[in-house]
Amino acid sequence: MNKKEKSWAEGVTAVILGTMQDGGLPHIGCRCAHCQAAEAQPQYAACLAIVDGRQTPPGVYLLDATPDIKHQLNLLADVLGPHSTRPNRLRQLDAIFLTHAHMGHIGGLPQLGPEAMAVQDLPVYAAPLLIDLLQEARVWRPMVNGLALRPLHPHQPISLAPNLTITPIPVPHRDEWGVGTFAFHVQGPGKSLLYLPDIDAWTLWAETAVLDTVDYALVDASFWSNDELGGRTAVAHPLVPDTLVRFAHIPGQLVLTHLNHTNPLLNIESVSYMQTCRAGVQIARLGQDFPL
Ligand SMILES: [Zn+2]
Ligand SMILES: [Zn+2]
Ligand SMILES: [Zn+2]
Repeated sequence: MNKKEKSWAEGVTAVILGTMQDGGLPHIGCRCAHCQAAEAQPQYAACLAIVDGRQTPPGVYLLDATPDIKHQLNLLADVLGPHSTRPNRLRQLDAIFLTHAHMGHIGGLPQLGPEAMAVQDLPVYAAPLLIDLLQEARVWRPMVNGLALRPLHPHQPISLAPNLTITPIPVPHRDEWGVGTFAFHVQGPGKSLLYLPDIDAWTLWAETAVLDTVDYALVDASFWSNDELGGRTAVAHPLVPDTLVRFAHIPGQLVLTHLNHTNPLLNIESVSYMQTCRAGVQIARLGQDFPL
């Protein structure tokens, strides 16, 4: 176990396992400079792990199941440890919490099925209508049979361990199936965190004040500007400069994540990157951790 992972095995820690919009980097079919540069070093879709090192073995929880889940689990190898009967395999996670039904957030679920990890009774928490959607998908039935699907209800905390809760908060976000989208509020023994990878607009949400109350707010930073869309109509996500202005009173709490492959923040030499750093706001990094 290296020094970094050792610290994850003490207390409660949130660990960033992915920072990109649903399609990851490179983005399929894209030959932009960011995507070409990332061929040798791909970046994963947005994901957060909560590791509770107070438990033996550590409690390990994943927020969202991304298409990159197999690589993301490997980053947790030392805290997961070996499977009880298959020593070459990792122990399965203690639970997964799903924010919503889009590809980057549920696209890793098939990896849990009989063709791959073959999990058994893995607790997966989701909105009740998203659970219905998963159960209705016949093509996913063998995988769903290995899950213990459990409903999430707005503002009802779920206790993971003493002094560790996760609470779903509804957010407005493109919703093709009418199943809803959640942000997650995680309260640890010492600190709190908000995980909000997707939202259509800050102005459509009545609960922005929750950002003032947390120690860390990991928020949707998909796009810097509408110019990234190559003339297509504006995608419903807040633009980063607007987010920086709206939350200018709490820059130290903000951590930007869920970046689209077009976002200039991917280039550390860009004016946007410098402007964000100068505002005192962090841009999420793979492996970055937050003690809770
Ligand atoms: Zn997303
Ligand atoms: Zn690209
Ligand atoms: Zn989405």
